[in-house]
Amino acid sequence: MNAPVYLDYNATTPLKPAARDAMIAAMNVVGNASSIHSFGRAARKRIEDAREQVGKLVGAAPKQVIFNSGATEGNNTILRGFAGTRILISAIEHASVIECGAALNAEKIPVTADGVVDLQALENMLKAGPSVGLVSVMLVNNETGVIQPVADVAKLARAYGAASHCDTVQAAGKIPINIDDLGIDFITLSAHKIGGPQGIGAIVTANGTISCLPTPIFIVGGGQERRLRAGTENVPAIAGFGAAAHAALTDINDYQKLGALRDRIETALVQTSNSIKIYGTNAQRVPNTTAFVVPGVPAETMLMNLDISGIAISSGSACSSGTVKPSHVLAAMGVTPDDAKSGLRVSLGWATTANDVDRFIEVWQNTAKRMLKA
Ligand code: PMP
Repeated sequence: MNAPVYLDYNATTPLKPAARDAMIAAMNVVGNASSIHSFGRAARKRIEDAREQVGKLVGAAPKQVIFNSGATEGNNTILRGFAGTRILISAIEHASVIECGAALNAEKIPVTADGVVDLQALENMLKAGPSVGLVSVMLVNNETGVIQPVADVAKLARAYGAASHCDTVQAAGKIPINIDDLGIDFITLSAHKIGGPQGIGAIVTANGTISCLPTPIFIVGGGQERRLRAGTENVPAIAGFGAAAHAALTDINDYQKLGALRDRIETALVQTSNSIKIYGTNAQRVPNTTAFVVPGVPAETMLMNLDISGIAISSGSACSSGTVKPSHVLAAMGVTPDDAKSGLRVSLGWATTANDVDRFIEVWQNTAKRMLKA
């Protein structure tokens, strides 16, 4: 009996040992980080150490980092901070930006067939007026792994007097990130995509931007996180995030080796059937992700058949309620509605082995051949 193989790292990653150790150690610390006594100060130290580690992951100083419950909260906080202004978001953002953007009447910036945001279209939208408050474009797309020209987006936004936000959730630990080089005003991060725990994340503000961070509208109360996000800090989760951020930076060169495993998977995919289409291959991509369509086979049918054989992958945009919807990312890339219902994603990560990939290919070949015949 083969052990199940997990190839859904863009949904969430297994905890890295360093993150688990930091969390267990923090769980043994008593103390509210806001207390002045020595117990409180010990808890505070763990938070501030983690703040430094998370800042370093994106080239920022600790004071630029605000902890929160994850990137969904971070994305909502930034977008809602610009409510009442004209907001531009890319058409391929994560649901947390798309849905929040819809509530704020945000306009969508189109992408090319390779899934890269269209800079000319963005400039036209900025030029057309009225003036824009915020432009939000992710650094790496969660479905395709395609890297976006975010430094150019930030430059354009600035030229037209708009602030910029970048969801770097799927870029962190995969490619180097420097908030100053990107020229972005607000970055959002999530720990569980980099080997940290779920339910913890951060907003990182550009140097000097914190004074104009949109007021927190969700949670007011105590003065935590520089009065920007009230609530007693989750010290173990923050400590785990810090350790994961540190490990992600240390391991970033090793991460690039996943590209060879991803390429083996893509070779096997096209060998199975020449009807299979892989997306984003002409663009720059992170090394761990492949997005593809098996025309005529609904994503959930393929997912369930693979799962029965112990292979866990994802449909185009999984995440939320376990229901499989046609991928809005593939649709924005011009994929037909029928094909967009057949979007699949394999995403590798820090614990993926060559054996895992061998097993995937073996199961894939049997399953896909059966499905394509049916
Ligand atoms: N943005 C992107 C690109 C993501 O992939 C995810 C997680 N699927 C999120 C935001 C949401 O992050 P969280 O799970 O921390 O709310």
